Amino acid sequence: MKPEMTTSLTELSPSGLAAVEQEIARACRQARRDRGSVTLIAVSKTFDAAAIVPVIGAGQRVFGENRVQEAKAKWPELISAYPGIALHLIGPLQSNKAREAVALFDAVHSVDRPSICEALAKEINSQKKWPELFVQLNTGEEPQKAGVPPAEADAFIAACRERYGLAISGLMCIPPVDEAPAPHFALTAKIAARNGLEKLSMGMSADFAIAIQLGATHVRVGSAIFGKR
Ligand SMILES: *Cc1c(COP(=O)(O)O)cnc(C)c1O
Repeated sequence: MKPEMTTSLTELSPSGLAAVEQEIARACRQARRDRGSVTLIAVSKTFDAAAIVPVIGAGQRVFGENRVQEAKAKWPELISAYPGIALHLIGPLQSNKAREAVALFDAVHSVDRPSICEALAKEINSQKKWPELFVQLNTGEEPQKAGVPPAEADAFIAACRERYGLAISGLMCIPPVDEAPAPHFALTAKIAARNGLEKLSMGMSADFAIAIQLGATHVRVGSAIFGKR
């Protein structure tokens, strides 16, 4: 083993992960939910293998990346070295990356427009691989942000299913940074319920406990595990 790997295994012994695990367990108890009903996605974007390996070593198996190219560069090797890794794409997807995304990822959280639906459907059918799919909502209706506006969500989900034949598992949201997240989580849960969707991808380092209170099944936590980016 190279010296820097030895150093990182001790220095980065993942205290962040342990703290996040503890907080998830606490939030689940408080919400009277089973710990098994919440999947922790460790968001490893910008961090290299030396930072990721100790987190895998501590037992974490579900990871999130926001860029297809970055994930392609660092994950195939880790996936073959450590069995049972699941990789989630949590960032925007371009249609021309759909092939690589379907090949590499076990879940895509950023389904938000017809061109992506079409590209995903094509790749799913040809690769016979079925990543779990989440429709991303833009609950804050922020012009710069990806996601479907709440008013268009029902029609978009219906189109995903009927027009593109996609099995949608749930909804994802990223609340505006300068607002209380709870109303955004509650709105996401409400839209999911009325569309028969069981999975909710919501909650990041600053607010995952609140998200669990409001029904999150997937929390996407980066900096609280890996440190500042
Ligand atoms: C980076 C990112 C996260 C994790 O954010 P932290 O605040 O570091 O926990 C979660 N979701 C998405 C979509 C992200 O891009």
